[in-house]
Amino acid sequence: MSGSITVLGAGSVGVGTAIHLQQRGWQVTLIDRSKPASHTSFGNAGVINNSSFVPLNNQGLWRSLPRYLKNRSPEVRYQWARIIREWPWFLHFLKHANARSTEASASALNELCTRALDEHRAFMQRSGNMHRLSECGWLKVYRGDKGYNPKGIDGSFYERFGVPAQALTAHEISDLEPDLKPIFKSGYLLNASTQINNPGELIKEYAAQFEADGGTLVQADIAAVSYDGQRFHLQADTPLQAERLVVAAGPWSADVLKPLGYKVMLGVERGYHQHFHPQAGTRLNRTLHDVDGGYIMAPMQAGIRLTTGVELALRDSPDNHAQLNQVIPRAKEAFPLAEPTDDPIWRGARPTLPDSRPIIGAAPAHENLWLNFGHQHIGLMTGPISGKLLAQQISGETPDTDLEPFRASRWVKH
Ligand SMILES: Cc1cc2nc3c(=O)[nH]c(=O)nc-3n(C[C@H](O)[C@H](O)[C@H](O)COP(=O)(O)OP(=O)(O)OC[C@H]3O[C@@H](n4cnc5c(N)ncnc54)[C@H](O)[C@@H]3O)c2cc1C
Repeated sequence: MSGSITVLGAGSVGVGTAIHLQQRGWQVTLIDRSKPASHTSFGNAGVINNSSFVPLNNQGLWRSLPRYLKNRSPEVRYQWARIIREWPWFLHFLKHANARSTEASASALNELCTRALDEHRAFMQRSGNMHRLSECGWLKVYRGDKGYNPKGIDGSFYERFGVPAQALTAHEISDLEPDLKPIFKSGYLLNASTQINNPGELIKEYAAQFEADGGTLVQADIAAVSYDGQRFHLQADTPLQAERLVVAAGPWSADVLKPLGYKVMLGVERGYHQHFHPQAGTRLNRTLHDVDGGYIMAPMQAGIRLTTGVELALRDSPDNHAQLNQVIPRAKEAFPLAEPTDDPIWRGARPTLPDSRPIIGAAPAHENLWLNFGHQHIGLMTGPISGKLLAQQISGETPDTDLEPFRASRWVKH
């Protein structure tokens, strides 16, 4: 296949799409207002695994809802302004918290998750940054005896989809992570899970390889997109044109599509991180999810990255550090964290569609317009595989997996 194509958005998803198009012979221009991976793809927990296919709005959400509604939980907080302004998103999000929808979304997302690591490995081999990947597993720990439940919602999907999960006693947890304080009574290890030591740098290095291989990277803030029947016109300080366009603008994708007449049911799940030095002589070997504490702690190049749960606030409203402030003491109960590093507290917005499945496919009303966004909690890991599937579709190949569950018409109206 040959011809030119423009990808708007250089996060994990846009970079993944650009590289796979390039590998299929397209002349690719990748546009972003910032340097690659400066936004959501920068600040995540860096987990790449085959187990994150169960959506947050699974049928078990109803059991946790009374606790979440109190608006004091570290896992989920909400802002009334967002609920009032974006109530249809909430309505659809809750409507999908049932067994049938969980089954459909988990099965579809599993198709992405099982392929995610292989795609990253291929990119890392090409970009020479395999050292960023640790095959260390992902530790989920409990302060009580709850532990691994093979019959629970997650556990029964793991069994069905062949995800290895090793139940752990308090002693086994200490053996794996000797510097953890002895507060965890049970847990499990997701053996096949891996960890990236600097997600932002990883994607930047992929983008640098894309450029080295002949791709064009343009820094431009696109104020609006229009279509004259043949070409897309991208309004910026220096206007740009595109014969074919892929929108991979993460949490901003609905804004980009609005001037073309599209209404997209895209919401965000905001989250924060802060880096801490470990106390001298201590070490965390792998990502830790303190399930009862409501946070994730990940060992990164910059220090221990403490990430928060979900904040259902308007995408651009000011920071609210309540969840972060709530989990810092809990994290210190678990691990000897020292002072924060000099890095600022980071906030990002996971782009989420109400069925927790991304859109990967053609736009409903324009030829040569393609969409790749809505990767919620798993977009770092599924960026390259989503990029591959879309590039296959655009190039007239049969995609590695059925793209019907990811079709745009679910949530995009014209
Ligand atoms: C706290 C937290 C922890 C997470 N942990 C994980 C994890 O462990 N593993 C995992 O896989 N995922 C994780 N995620 C989710 C993951 O980070 C996201 O799903 C992913 O980064 C989304 O990538 P994206 O490319 O769609 O969006 P982005 O990375 O936000 O990229 C979109 C790009 O589009 C550009 N753009 C938008 N509009 C315009 C415009 N008008 N003009 C020019 N450029 C524009 C932006 O500048 C941006 O660079 C986490 C997220 C959070 C918040």
